[in-house]
Amino acid sequence: MKNDIHPKYGKSIVKCACGEQFETTSTVDELRVDICSKCHPFYTGRQKLVDTGGRVDKFNKKYGIK
Ligand SMILES: [Zn+2]
Repeated sequence: MKNDIHPKYGKSIVKCACGEQFETTSTVDELRVDICSKCHPFYTGRQKLVDTGGRVDKFNKKYGIK
């Protein structure tokens, strides 16, 4: 049985858009995600990163960007 046909599967760092980081096992060294258990509305009960509709407009108004 050949070992080299299997991808490397080991510890990797998951980095979320909210800044949260945690370890998991994957075939890559680093994963980037938009949402995690710390900021997912299912866990937090709040709308946050999943608010796509009007999100940019709110941001622009807040900072006075046109
Ligand atoms: Zn997160």
